Amino acid sequence: MEDSADSPKDRLINPETLFQLNYGMCILSSAKDGRANGCIVNTVFQVVPDPIIIAVSINKDSLTNEYISASRVFGISILGEECPMSFIGRFGFRTGRDIDKFRKVKNKPGITGAPIALDNAAGYIEAEVVKEIDISTHTVFFGQVVACRTVDKSKIPMTYAYYRDVKNGRTPRTAATYIKTKPKDKSKKGAKAMAKYRCLMCGYIYDPEAGDPANGVEPGTAFEDLPDDWVCPDCGVGQDEFEPVNQ
Ligand code: FE
Repeated sequence: MEDSADSPKDRLINPETLFQLNYGMCILSSAKDGRANGCIVNTVFQVVPDPIIIAVSINKDSLTNEYISASRVFGISILGEECPMSFIGRFGFRTGRDIDKFRKVKNKPGITGAPIALDNAAGYIEAEVVKEIDISTHTVFFGQVVACRTVDKSKIPMTYAYYRDVKNGRTPRTAATYIKTKPKDKSKKGAKAMAKYRCLMCGYIYDPEAGDPANGVEPGTAFEDLPDDWVCPDCGVGQDEFEPVNQ
């Protein structure tokens, strides 16, 4: 279908068009002072064939950005299509400042010292930073590839379109390809009292009858009455990423 935008500005910029660009889903990883961290990126591409140089864009607020800036190395794990959403949520929607993202994730130290996530990986790449560009909210790191290996030939690499269209995945606000959307209306407090809500990222169901005692939410708390800082206990996304479950 063609654009059906209605304002002059919308006629010039339809953000949906950007989703027609092709991207792959990867974990970008690095380490600093013995601590490993990683995050989901969909902006890795090869820019030079010989020597092999790749580029990746990452938000300046990201802890992984801080680690790459310090260590000058990074790893890329190329995710397969069957990668669970909870895994993507863990690396894409939570911060390494709060949790150890590599805990219980199969990984190995690469030859550069960057941690390489092996769970759900079709392959991985390691690179040493040769140049970086400060661009608005993001940094683009250029890395010369020092290793790249296939982990599981049978895995089909996950494209960003597959993640969005087949897995119904969302985009965190810090991502290079994030597009602003209207927040969910929580003004009708009590209107849908005691309805269950599903996390669009990982499928977790918030049941108001059960609450979330592990995170200080008493049984009998409606979704609309959750504290503003409550996030999905499984994958860490905010309440905007939940929708009511039709019953
Ligand atoms: Fe979740």
